[in-house]
Amino acid sequence: MDNRTVVKSLLRIAVDTPLRRTFDYLPPHEGEVPAPGSRLRVPFGNRLVIGVVVSIESQSDVPEDKLKRISEVIDAHPVFDDALLKLLCWAGDYYHHPLGEVIATALPKLAREGASLAARREVWAATAAGREAHRAGEPTRAPKQRRLLQRLVAAPQTVDADTLTAELPGWRDAARALATRGWASAAEAPAPSAAIVSNAAAAVLPTLSDEQAQAVERISHADPATFHAWLLHGITGSGKTEIYLRLAADTLARGRRVLVLVPEIGLTPQLVGRFAARFPDVPYAVLHSGLTDGERLAAWRAAHDGSARLVLGTRSAVFAPLPDLGLLIVDEEHDPSFKQQEGGFRYSARDLAVVRAQILGVPIVLGSATPSLETLHNATLGRYTRLTLSRRAAAARPPVLRLLDLRAERVHAGLSTTAVTTMQQHLADGGQILVYINRRGYAPTLACTACGWIAPCQACDARMTVYRNAARLRCHHCGADRDLPRQCPTCGYAVKTVGQGTERVEETLGETFPGVSIARLDRDVVRHSDELEAVMTRVASGAARILVGTQMVAKGHDFPAVTLAVVLNADQGLFNTDFRAAERLAQTIVQVAGRAGRGERGGLVLIQTEYPEHPLLTSLLDGGYDAFAKTALEERRAAGWPPFARLAALRASALQAAHAIAFLEAARAIAAESMRRGEAPVRLLGPAPAAMARRADRHHAQLLIESTERSALHRFLAAWLPQIETLPAARRVRYALDVDPLELF
Ligand code: ADP
Ligand code: ZN
Ligand code: ZN
Repeated sequence: MDNRTVVKSLLRIAVDTPLRRTFDYLPPHEGEVPAPGSRLRVPFGNRLVIGVVVSIESQSDVPEDKLKRISEVIDAHPVFDDALLKLLCWAGDYYHHPLGEVIATALPKLAREGASLAARREVWAATAAGREAHRAGEPTRAPKQRRLLQRLVAAPQTVDADTLTAELPGWRDAARALATRGWASAAEAPAPSAAIVSNAAAAVLPTLSDEQAQAVERISHADPATFHAWLLHGITGSGKTEIYLRLAADTLARGRRVLVLVPEIGLTPQLVGRFAARFPDVPYAVLHSGLTDGERLAAWRAAHDGSARLVLGTRSAVFAPLPDLGLLIVDEEHDPSFKQQEGGFRYSARDLAVVRAQILGVPIVLGSATPSLETLHNATLGRYTRLTLSRRAAAARPPVLRLLDLRAERVHAGLSTTAVTTMQQHLADGGQILVYINRRGYAPTLACTACGWIAPCQACDARMTVYRNAARLRCHHCGADRDLPRQCPTCGYAVKTVGQGTERVEETLGETFPGVSIARLDRDVVRHSDELEAVMTRVASGAARILVGTQMVAKGHDFPAVTLAVVLNADQGLFNTDFRAAERLAQTIVQVAGRAGRGERGGLVLIQTEYPEHPLLTSLLDGGYDAFAKTALEERRAAGWPPFARLAALRASALQAAHAIAFLEAARAIAAESMRRGEAPVRLLGPAPAAMARRADRHHAQLLIESTERSALHRFLAAWLPQIETLPAARRVRYALDVDPLELF
């Protein structure tokens, strides 16, 4: 085309906007052209925004006189190296999400706002003259300067530039003005070392079991400079972590770095502890959602400048900028929390980790006692190599699983007589007991004894959960919280609780086993990692004999004295509209079972159910997780669900149900149009209201797009989404595309 602008170096830049495009700018007048992956400030509309250079081009479709010049280069060295930038671009394409927003997700908040990634950080302080001026009430006419000076004077020493960015947006101009007047000055302080710790002495290494040795050998004999995905399928306690440690040691010894992803770092301090103990001289950084913005930035810097040789983190750590990354490990790869299920950019950190390993040409290890069916399928297809650890490492026997038929049992407050008598025996023998129930709160329902009223949430199609200790009713879907009524609000009769949650089970067990100390673990008890630590310590020390909890009890903790685990109700997972519910249930049962009998004594697992003949339960009990997976995969194949098909969900919500449906209908009509032209061999299912349609006063609906071919699905989505964005109906809804959705409502 003739009217293209040709310039020596044009910067193609991604900006944090919902627009599906990049923007071209002219490089700075002087100095070097910033490399791809660097952050800069650019004029955008009538403001200055931060963008990231995606590529250097020589031609632009924008006429030369319309091209703007960048305002400022932030990074002397790119934030993202080529491989990471490639990963981000891949993610934008695959999840059909605007690149600028993808990049913004990858950056810590302060880095997104322009904080320096240099190892040394900028700090500000008031000068003596500044303190004097402040005492005299200056400056009188510049409120921003006054606020900043006030903040600096109040600080015991200096204030971090990042802190100022967080507290006083736009403080820089004020700082420059104060500096000109001689009232404040900037300095450089060494980077905080909080994120980088090295401690403890290396443990004596255990002798590997044959299975472990074989796994380590196979992985370390493969070319370390070639992509290879390994599925490490090992039962709980079989020594997977020991294998991670050996492989990490090899990689670190070669001078390369290691990235370890875990589902929830709050629940796996043990893993961090084991890495730290094994590699006392290796600086590491931890990245998870519990960090403050400053801590997260510090950990990111440590990764970026290479001082951290090992990074452990949750979902978004898959984007951590590590130079010379030589090995990726994803522990508990089946865990749903690796998938971002909210917001616009709904990525799978596990899947992106595999892509990152592929781009880098390095090995990745996916570990689990209960691999996802997708991953097992990939192993069957030969994309991943499966290594199996079938025996527990430390001479422990695998637990015995037994079903308890609730129809044939006397049941009190959710506990069958057999469960209670078995618990009695284990307590008498000095064992510890774990009780799993997938509901928190006291009871899931509050009902009237006379008129049938049931406490509903005003904002959701849901019942409110009873919290008896706190005397509250709470909605688990929107957070609504109100007083616990003593009488029925419609007829005035007495109300009663129906069903049980963790709080009630704890109470019942306390009455059944007086004098026995009981600990509870769920999201209501544990809001911070130190509360988790406190519960864990009570259990690990043996002070608590019974631990009651939700999903949290099934994850990663090593309680050697637990001899009995009880699954109170398996049935919610058996009949569910979501095709993945069975997989989740089987995983939970196996994970809970993995907590029993890790010490010298074997363990027993009791599973209470009203459907003891259900094929899912029988296959699991007779043949273990492998047999279950085989049955479940056959069902998926027959029904045409993933991994035998590719899925995407277009999700919409609006204050009026009709608006959400109308939008999805309109989106479907566009799709039908393009399918008539023979462009897209995909199947559309819906739109349909979500199973719980109203949540927090918004009505949710979804349209599923399915194809047996990945490339067909993506060609379709790429053509479809830009058209959806222009629909008038789109303006009345919030919507998001979820590629490879984990939950279907
Ligand atoms: P997983 O990660 O598969 O659950 P771990 O690596 O945590 O298993 O191992 C379970 C327990 O067995 C841990 O206490 C660990 O220290 C121990 N262990 C692992 N490998 C060995 C081994 N080869 N010899 C003795 N003990 C081992
Ligand atoms: Zn009533
Ligand atoms: Zn609600």
